Amino acid sequence: MDLLSQPVLILNSSYLPISIKSVKDAICMLLLDKAEVLKEAKDAFIRSEKLKIPVPHVILLSNYYQLPKRRLRVSRHTILERDNYTCVYCQKKPAPSKLTLDHIIPRSRWEIISNEKKFFEFNSWENIVTACRDCNTKKGSKLLSELKWKIPEIKKINQNSPIPNISETKAEKYGWTEFLNY
Ligand SMILES: [Zn+2]
Repeated sequence: MDLLSQPVLILNSSYLPISIKSVKDAICMLLLDKAEVLKEAKDAFIRSEKLKIPVPHVILLSNYYQLPKRRLRVSRHTILERDNYTCVYCQKKPAPSKLTLDHIIPRSRWEIISNEKKFFEFNSWENIVTACRDCNTKKGSKLLSELKWKIPEIKKINQNSPIPNISETKAEKYGWTEFLNY
């Protein structure tokens, strides 16, 4: 990924994370005096004829206190991020392309389970988890109780969070950890 399209964490004036923009957008905001840098790279620079700017990691908006409203949706990306790209069954962390989404209660069993026991929807945060291909195949259309498998507690998602759920790995990679609430 080239430096200009690397992600930058944007905080509003109350230091709450509100979005993720590209380095290019962040530098525009900085040059327009709409934001200030809170954290930047020590050894990566954007250079032009007249400028040499360290790549920003986190910027703080000036005079912007709003929190945008957004509802986070279940998707491959948001589930993988929530589970930190780790198979919930075996705790392995293969390449993201080798990870799949697994329905804890599979489609073929969904109708059999009485309505009283369904505390959530089929395609919901509660029923979808990250699984490696091996575990997904082994699980097939079985229930966890039949396999005697247990899964760790799934991270709770704040669906009304203004920013997409960010995995710990990503937060660490770009130096955002101290600005997010883990
Ligand atoms: Zn696995």
